[in-house]
Amino acid sequence: MKILQQINKKTPKKFQQTYVLQTCLLFCMLTAASVLFLSWGFAAHRKIIDVTIHFVPEPLHGFFKANRDWLVEHALDADLRKHSVIGEAEKHYIDLEAFGVSQEQEICLPPFDWNDAVGTFGEDELRSNGIGPWNVQWQYRKLTVAFASQDKTKILRCAADLAHYIADLHVPLHTTENYDGAITGQKGIHSLWETQVPELRMAEFDLVSYSSALNYLPLCTDSIWDIISESHSCLPLVFSAEKEAMEEIGEHDSFAFVVRGRTRQKMRTEAFVSLYHAKLNGQVEQRMRSSIEVCALFWYCAWVQAGQPTLPLNTNDQNSFRRIFKWLIN
Ligand SMILES: [Zn+2]
Repeated sequence: MKILQQINKKTPKKFQQTYVLQTCLLFCMLTAASVLFLSWGFAAHRKIIDVTIHFVPEPLHGFFKANRDWLVEHALDADLRKHSVIGEAEKHYIDLEAFGVSQEQEICLPPFDWNDAVGTFGEDELRSNGIGPWNVQWQYRKLTVAFASQDKTKILRCAADLAHYIADLHVPLHTTENYDGAITGQKGIHSLWETQVPELRMAEFDLVSYSSALNYLPLCTDSIWDIISESHSCLPLVFSAEKEAMEEIGEHDSFAFVVRGRTRQKMRTEAFVSLYHAKLNGQVEQRMRSSIEVCALFWYCAWVQAGQPTLPLNTNDQNSFRRIFKWLIN
């Protein structure tokens, strides 16, 4: 503030205007760059939204297709909020180990109803272990309300966020306290599974042959508990495949420094990612395809539950935002 006051006192008005304009431009460019940088490695989130649009029936298909660019650009908003909104980070995962195991050594799930879960574990305990499944239920209700209000901005924001959270809970490592391999000496496995494999092999994935008809299920969000159980059951292969690949390739050839955006990061080599992907036997592709199917179902059910309202198709404001965004990054 002091510096700005000094500039105001000592500099001619024209220079002040130029200075303020340049500062604003620099800020906008840095923000755009930061969004792009943070978005790196999240190709899967964008792809899931893009393909989901193909699988919802009319009039949802026409509405989401007309707003496709906006939805894809905002597929990562929920992750960007993690750094600025208190309470956001815990919405993206759940550490199932926190709820113990049964006598048969199977993982226990907490009560599906939020109030029952709070009554059993306390809200602080729940939040410290992640609240992903309950958050999906809340986001679904928000999308239903948005559809009922016929507010295009709200519908798009809620649909993008819901898709993001659903996709996150399909990632096995979003259901465990060993989310980045720190406990088992496999650090970096999170970005290996979630980022490096999709970036290298996603073009080969069959994500568009989904053919099941969407049927309205009033309690569709209950299925989120099956989804996290499936995700958690994938974990033994997630970790064992990485160990096997490391033993076969050797630590020296498993890592390389890769330039991503403006940083150099130590990541698994392309040879390692390919071998790991082969050992996963289509696991990443299967979890992405399931994300798309579930997302299409939830979007559709929310719209039916809202009374199948008419949807607005005007995209002018999204296109102008896109033009400004493109101008800034160019
Ligand atoms: Zn996330």
